[in-house]
Amino acid sequence: MEKEAAPSLSRIILPVPRELCASCRMCCRFTDPDRAPWASRADRAPDFPEIFSAPRPLPLLPLPVAPSDPPLWSCSALGSDGLGCDLWGGHPADCRIYPLLVVFREGAFRIVLDPDCPFSSREGLSFFRHHAERFLAEEWSLLTSDQIRAVRSVAEREDRPHFQEILLLPPPSAPRRGSPLS
Ligand code: SF4
Ligand code: SF4
Repeated sequence: MEKEAAPSLSRIILPVPRELCASCRMCCRFTDPDRAPWASRADRAPDFPEIFSAPRPLPLLPLPVAPSDPPLWSCSALGSDGLGCDLWGGHPADCRIYPLLVVFREGAFRIVLDPDCPFSSREGLSFFRHHAERFLAEEWSLLTSDQIRAVRSVAEREDRPHFQEILLLPPPSAPRRGSPLS
């Protein structure tokens, strides 16, 4: 979700314009709990890395829907205006880097781009590769092997076939340098 105030921490945040999110509002509401922030599934990953965690529990809240509609949840950190994030600056990595995502596909962690976000077509691949490489160097590389293994099942559920590969991440035991994917 978009920027609401100056971030309090120096963490990677993709610069999605607020007005674009205001006209879209696709984020932070979920028909599938496996598309929600990883931190909302922390009970399923006991050694959850801090960069994917939130400063407070992040349960999903059921939203009212018509009887014939599928269930819908919102993130509990979604602001009262339905647009801002109450945790901005300290929000989880998977929120901060979206429309990039970390997935586990074909035996490896990868950073991919979600083409469903309108911002994904506003910038070139080099822009997203730059941010993916920064995320690898400044955040992912800080994770222990155990922490990376702990998020594998979550990253596996995150993947969708239409996500575009941006960067191949190194295996937990290897030196943390990514390989660009063209
Ligand atoms: S999908 Fe993209 S443009 Fe839409 S609310 Fe999310 S980050 Fe903003
Ligand atoms: S933590 Fe913030 S940005 Fe992430 S889903 Fe919740 S409200 Fe949206």
